[in-house]
Amino acid sequence: MLSLCTLWLALGPSLAFAGSPGVVLFLADDLGYGDLGCFGHPSSRTPHLDRLAASGRRFSDFYSASSVCSPSRAALLTGRYPTRSGIFPGVFNPSSKGGLPLNETTIAELLKQQGYVTAMVGKWHLGYGLNGTYLPIHQGFDEFLGVPYSHDQGPCQNLTCFPPDTKCYGKCDQGVVLLPLVKNNKVVQQPVNFPKLTPMYNYFARDFILRAAKKQKPFFLYYASHHTHYPQFASADFTRKSERGPLGDALMEFDGSVGQIMKALRDAGVENNTFVFFTSDNGPELMRRSRGGNAGLLKCGKGTTYEGGMREPAIAYWPGQITPGLTHELASTLDILPTIASLTGAKLPHIKLDGYDMSDILFNNRKSKRDTMFYYPISPSKKLGVFAVRYRQYKAHYYTQGSTHSDSTPDHACHWDSLLSFHNPPLLFDLEADPSENYPLSSFDIPNYSWIIEEIKKKKLLFELGMEFGESQIERGDDPNLEPCIKPGCTPWPACCIKTE
Ligand code: MG
Repeated sequence: MLSLCTLWLALGPSLAFAGSPGVVLFLADDLGYGDLGCFGHPSSRTPHLDRLAASGRRFSDFYSASSVCSPSRAALLTGRYPTRSGIFPGVFNPSSKGGLPLNETTIAELLKQQGYVTAMVGKWHLGYGLNGTYLPIHQGFDEFLGVPYSHDQGPCQNLTCFPPDTKCYGKCDQGVVLLPLVKNNKVVQQPVNFPKLTPMYNYFARDFILRAAKKQKPFFLYYASHHTHYPQFASADFTRKSERGPLGDALMEFDGSVGQIMKALRDAGVENNTFVFFTSDNGPELMRRSRGGNAGLLKCGKGTTYEGGMREPAIAYWPGQITPGLTHELASTLDILPTIASLTGAKLPHIKLDGYDMSDILFNNRKSKRDTMFYYPISPSKKLGVFAVRYRQYKAHYYTQGSTHSDSTPDHACHWDSLLSFHNPPLLFDLEADPSENYPLSSFDIPNYSWIIEEIKKKKLLFELGMEFGESQIERGDDPNLEPCIKPGCTPWPACCIKTE
């Protein structure tokens, strides 16, 4: 008779866990590679994430698929480069006509087919559209509580001067509706009560988990926090509590949410049967000095194809299942959908995917199936193609460009006025020897230099031959009448879209 262990080795995790594990996906916003305690930040206080990292798998070489919000989130939920789904250039506005196309298959839709109950809480940023056409409840989520876009995309009630009596930094978007809180497909609060937002999300998420466990239903929770996107804020329990100022407070509140959701899993008796994954959507915003995040030793941040723009902290946690420790294997947000499909026995959609099942890294300490990562800029085009390619430990930059989002770092290469530059031959770095991309290699440094360049060139060519750009959803344009409003059709627009409690 086969022992359990032999059975495990024979079947692999996907079949051995046919008992439908819970899935919790935490996403931070604009949180950098160097922002967490467990990734080396000396004054961040992130005890709950640090605990997950200590007994789970921490990734040193994990990438998002874009250096800004909307395309990165599209890739996370679909396992496809956002060029395929048309989420470019840039990000969605409150008045955008487009959204993540409804025929794209999200993780939530895969899991619905497996009998899961699904919920999303937090920042969506994959379109709102006519009467909320593109909201999460139309993309596989049974329930949604959150804000449909970034919280600086509306007049944001003095948050740029938060905490009160501090210097004001920047401004939020004017001339659009106040920030809405949406429940399923209905605006339930406008403007959002910022200091109470995270406690409300935590309550919603806990309630969802407890309800699912009580009904013995497998569940998927996607918790996409607005922290630590600009402008920074936190509820009363966290304001002025960190040693890192407003960003530290926001991060501490995010970490506290992780702690509360983990407690909910324990209280529901499902922690040992839940796959938990944490990462961030893109690199830190480096345009507001210490009020933005930190990319650690990586170059530049948000908006760029340097490492700081797209390499993210990531942690996988599943007590008793995941091999604890650090992995240097290459992985990406693109790999989360295929991994969850493998763990739950869900069928992959019949469509071109860009992700790989990470089970070998998580459970078997084996090599990653991924050996390449492609870096598109925030305004990708067929003409220029990918800006950079990572193959094994080598990264070749064909184009480099700075960004306003990385404007306050001392490194001038990150700034908006470092204009588009073409590199021929490409700038080549060994990211293991030089993760900060400080010292381009040449034939003087490594004898097989040209062999590596040739190999990367082949990978790039093959990838680009297989890349079909979707119709741009963001270039479909804007219509102010589409902005979410608690009193639809009211006048004078947009000032009438307000309901105070
Ligand atoms: Mg972001």
